[in-house]
Amino acid sequence: MSALVIPVSLLDEARVFFEDCGTTGCEGTAMIMAGPDGVAHRLVIPDQRATPLPYCSVEVTRQGKFDLLAALGPKDVYASRIHSHPGLAFHSPTDDANPAITHEGALSIVVPFFGLGLRRGLDSCAVLVRRRGEWVSVNVEGERESLIAAR
Ligand SMILES: [Zn+2]
Repeated sequence: MSALVIPVSLLDEARVFFEDCGTTGCEGTAMIMAGPDGVAHRLVIPDQRATPLPYCSVEVTRQGKFDLLAALGPKDVYASRIHSHPGLAFHSPTDDANPAITHEGALSIVVPFFGLGLRRGLDSCAVLVRRRGEWVSVNVEGERESLIAAR
């Protein structure tokens, strides 16, 4: 499997959205769509309901699930989910249980500090990959580069 290439402009779009959610103490969530070439070409922000701090959670609504399906072209795939946390970037038990995408090799990016972490690019984010039905953290530098690249 080749690395998912994510244009910096798409990450900027995600950062702006997450920072905006953060202004009201809320997390945000979105999906990264890629074509058959493995290049991400669209950030899809589904309708969502967020609960602000101190609880801080975000849920894609029923409408949001339709949004995600409707946005998908015949050759597109959701290669990664991406969501923000108020603090540090990690996969919470809720994130592990979230069935947003579950295909082998799917990626999950967690952005720290209400999106501000993306100002430093993906290095500040947690990246997980779906392997044999589980989300596995990708911490080793070389392995991360083999899975995801911002250009
Ligand atoms: Zn989370």
